[in-house]
Amino acid sequence: MREPSCRQLPVKPNCLALFAVLALPAGAGITIDTTAAPEHAAWAAKALPVATEWLPRLANLLAVPGSGGLPDVTVKITPEYKGVAFASGSGITMASAWVRDHPEDSVGALIHELVHVLQGYPGGSEHWLTEGIADYLRFSVYEGKPAGYFPKPAKVQGYRDAYQVAAGFLAWLEAGEAPGVVRRLHAALRAKKYTPELFVKAAGKPLDDLWREYTAASVAGKKLPAGLTKLSYKQNGGGAFVAGAGGEWVEVQGGKEHARFKETARSEEAVELYDAARGIRLRLGADSVSLQRNGSWSPLYAAEWEAKP
Ligand SMILES: [Zn+2]
Repeated sequence: MREPSCRQLPVKPNCLALFAVLALPAGAGITIDTTAAPEHAAWAAKALPVATEWLPRLANLLAVPGSGGLPDVTVKITPEYKGVAFASGSGITMASAWVRDHPEDSVGALIHELVHVLQGYPGGSEHWLTEGIADYLRFSVYEGKPAGYFPKPAKVQGYRDAYQVAAGFLAWLEAGEAPGVVRRLHAALRAKKYTPELFVKAAGKPLDDLWREYTAASVAGKKLPAGLTKLSYKQNGGGAFVAGAGGEWVEVQGGKEHARFKETARSEEAVELYDAARGIRLRLGADSVSLQRNGSWSPLYAAEWEAKP
């Protein structure tokens, strides 16, 4: 026999909770429209239960006062659109060629777009955070990718590369420096109240300092290639550090000698250089050059070693 409904009982606290749940808009369904790309009917049949299961999960992870209930989402697969996928309001458009050519990536891309539907940020929002949050929920939460999966360009404000770069940074903040920061960022972006100060409030440090810490931690532990002779970088007009005899290193920019360094230390992970004339210490790591500043290493350039065969 069915339980009596709350309407038939004197009001009790539990019933108030039940009324609150019933007050959510009914439906909250996802429709995948394949009329323009019927060859993807099988893909849609596979993607629909995944999206239906994950929309409420994503909504709960991003729940803030005023979020409202779950939206009804229509996903249209079309041969007309030549990109990957995009969201507009509660509609998602996916390119049929892309679904065909990237079966391994297409459900994940749909999860990313579902996050955009839930975000509903006003125009002019920080692009790197909008895409970073969408990829954080897709790769870190939905796909369960480990920390080592995410690219970490060792450059100043590298988080501005958005997408997976920003996603890895957010995952690192969530796991250590600032648990709950994604929801706080989401709430601030929705309310058009985001400023970088939020990172100071959430983690006690400015955004750029957090980024430096994140990338410095990632650089440590990566081993240098064998037989290294030259490290090139593209930033700042491009240049290279070239090893000479007796632990001398020359930094070349635009084909000319720019600075001279003495090698002061070498480990499996880094070569350290010192320019006594300018008092500058550099660390040549597996994929970056860092500068010593106030006792810690700040990424200066993303760089690539050239080793002798
Ligand atoms: Zn996106």
